[in-house]
Amino acid sequence: MTQHDVHSSSHGDQLIQPERGQQNGSRPWPVIVTRRLVKTYILGETSVYALRGVSLKVYPGEFVAIMGPSGSGKSSFMNLIGCLDHPTSGDYFLAGMPVSRLRPDDLADIRNRRIGFVFQSFNLLVRDTALTNVMLPMIYAGFSGKEQERRARRALQLVGLGDRISHLPTQLSGGEQQRASLEIMAALQSLNARGITIIIVTHNPEIAAYTRRQVVMRDGRVVSDEPVAALRSAQADWSAAVKSNSAAGGMQIQEETQ
Ligand code: ADP
Ligand code: MG
Repeated sequence: MTQHDVHSSSHGDQLIQPERGQQNGSRPWPVIVTRRLVKTYILGETSVYALRGVSLKVYPGEFVAIMGPSGSGKSSFMNLIGCLDHPTSGDYFLAGMPVSRLRPDDLADIRNRRIGFVFQSFNLLVRDTALTNVMLPMIYAGFSGKEQERRARRALQLVGLGDRISHLPTQLSGGEQQRASLEIMAALQSLNARGITIIIVTHNPEIAAYTRRQVVMRDGRVVSDEPVAALRSAQADWSAAVKSNSAAGGMQIQEETQ
């Protein structure tokens, strides 16, 4: 990468970079920078090496899927970038702030201001209200809480989500769950098209196909980091799924919603 690294050592807790500034008049600053993040859990006599040095940069407006097999460190990584946990070593800068050195109070504060939520399963996502869902996985660089909510509401209206995904996932059939996932991905794509940075964790390549960048982890390391060649439209796939469902007899769903 040609990006200059973010330095914090002599700057303490202060904001060390403009939040939405341009670098050398061209590329924006990364909204997320991790450098050699290590997370080791101590279990009695044993150490579990969950993250073995993860360095990643995410730029404003990216849409990233974190993938990889179970136990590869995805949750540990997302907990760190979601400011829910401290690394064993390494650095994390969120919009230029050296998060890994913040005290718990400051960490809670920056988490509330900068991070919606980090989620791993669509079940978890579907369980919440639509508005919270849309605010969950995203980082809105430079917007106030009110502005975040306003944008989330507007985005939901734009994609027609409203309360349509407020059912509990256990009440949904396989086909309904697939369509709910597509609705969510369409909402996220729509928000991303408006410049919002989104990071999700998913095991499912069919879900990751709707993002723009796929980061694959294995054994606590990033083993692959590739742009998605051809972006799929979740909205188009959702429409096709709804059509084929009604062609195959969608009576059941109509009855349920009457
Ligand atoms: P993934 O989300 O990809 O399944 P995790 O980050 O959950 O990976 O786990 C990575 C490794 O760290 C696994 O070996 C897991 O058992 C271990 N691990 C995760 N959380 C803890 C914890 N709180 N205490 C001990 N070990 C943990
Ligand atoms: Mg996990």
